[in-house]
Amino acid sequence: MNIGVVGLGLIGGSLGLDLLASSQDHNYVWGISRNPETCKQAEEIAAVSIASTNIADIPDRILAQTDIVVICTPIAAILPTISEIAPKLASNVIFTDVGSVKSAIVEPALKICQQFNQRFVGSHPMAGTAFQGILAAERNLFQNRPCVVTPSDDLEAVEKVRSLWQSVGMNVYECSAEEHDRAVAMISHAPVMISASLIAACQAESDRTVLKLAQNLASSGFRDTSRVGGGNPELGRLMAEYNQSAVLRSLQNYQQSLQAVIGLIENKQWEDLESFLANTQSDRAFYVD
Ligand code: NAP
Repeated sequence: MNIGVVGLGLIGGSLGLDLLASSQDHNYVWGISRNPETCKQAEEIAAVSIASTNIADIPDRILAQTDIVVICTPIAAILPTISEIAPKLASNVIFTDVGSVKSAIVEPALKICQQFNQRFVGSHPMAGTAFQGILAAERNLFQNRPCVVTPSDDLEAVEKVRSLWQSVGMNVYECSAEEHDRAVAMISHAPVMISASLIAACQAESDRTVLKLAQNLASSGFRDTSRVGGGNPELGRLMAEYNQSAVLRSLQNYQQSLQAVIGLIENKQWEDLESFLANTQSDRAFYVD
């Protein structure tokens, strides 16, 4: 298979590494990125067979035989990128993306692709690290991690995109863009805002002696609860901007929950508080081991 990867960062680079390393089916991966240095580094680490800032540099016979193009740019660049490169690719090619939101992408992307008799299936491979850029790319990033693929009447395209993610070890779930966005708001996007707010609340402490002591005492608990709030600010902003209603819904549910906890503490309802925490202790297992 010939695969195109556009946006050679953590996700695009890691995908290319795995596709080329298991090159039985995926014998050619071409890449596009904005920065010439990124393209050079992607070739050096074998994340791509060839990369350029300009699609015109990819040989025509490779473009003509491309099966799937995976758009791995930041969310805001996904639709403009498809619009830019679709006219340069053969009809029938399948586009997919890796964006962390789906409703804002799937319908408009499908419309763009249909203008060129091309196909689109949305994806969200749920794997990542705290790092960015091509040098953060790593082998086996996707192994045993979940990946959402959005449904389409084009069953063959869905099957090909599903197989692509399965070939790098992902467990694929099919769901609508709206369901994806609501679920991901609960377990990924709202937690970023909650964790960031925790860090901001600590910084609001005005007693510098206490603040300094907190800095010295912060250990694994604070590391766990602050981790996602200390991640890539651009990605966090885009999650909220492109998934606004679902993120707000999750944060409002959280606000109610927090208000209830404050009430229990203010009213010294210690037994009720313990019951609440006993419920959350067992409910956590519903989501994670
Ligand atoms: P990243 O490491 O910053 O990589 C994005 C790469 O895209 C950059 O290295 C940049 O390379 C390139 N790029 C930026 N704007 C571009 C444009 N307009 N045209 C072409 N290339 C462009 O980010 P990432 O973490 O891989 O995230 C990429 C996508 O994956 C996002 O849509 C995000 O929602 C999704 N995602 C991220 C994670 C995660 O945890 N990180 C998980 C799942 C999905 P240059 O050096 O060439 O500018």
